[in-house]
Amino acid sequence: MSDFNTDHYLRINEIKNYLYCGRISYYTLCLRLDRETDLSKGGVGAEQETKVRMKRRKSALHTVHQGMRHFDVSVVSHALRLIGRVDEMVETDAGVYLIDYKDTDRDYGYWRTQMAAYALAAQEMGNQVLGSYVYIIPRKRYEAIEVQPRDMRRLEQIVAELAELIVHEVCPPPAKQIGKCRSCQYANFCADVF
Ligand code: SF4
Repeated sequence: MSDFNTDHYLRINEIKNYLYCGRISYYTLCLRLDRETDLSKGGVGAEQETKVRMKRRKSALHTVHQGMRHFDVSVVSHALRLIGRVDEMVETDAGVYLIDYKDTDRDYGYWRTQMAAYALAAQEMGNQVLGSYVYIIPRKRYEAIEVQPRDMRRLEQIVAELAELIVHEVCPPPAKQIGKCRSCQYANFCADVF
């Protein structure tokens, strides 16, 4: 998908930041501060290594039979103006299965919304989505994510909130859990927290 205009499209990954703490989205989307840490680099590294290993494996997800595997598939939803990249898409005669690799088993309430976004985008691009999974790297196992209508409604709500944030540029309150701040790459910017 190289022919779409990404100027005003949100990355689906941005939803993860927002659900972790709205301030991160403020820093990245309004102040254009995009920080990378050893922690996030480590996560990317783990996912890259896993991708290489997964590509070598002859069979895909054990619950998906006889599918053609595609990796790093770009998807776009023009309805919600979202772009993203699915780690693995398994194509079968009946439709596709979506798989995202996770370097952690901590969800923070993000996985369902992320997979809802991928499913929406994949469907908009003409795919029949048969199922969604996350592959949890530390546990080496798949977990099915059944995207429900309420997940789609939540996705729409979050996208609307992010749009509000971008338009009004009001810094959100800090995260309620101080533990999140301790491992946050933006901690230096939040003088009111520490
Ligand atoms: S330090 Fe805490 S309040 Fe500040 S952006 Fe990070 S998680 Fe949010």
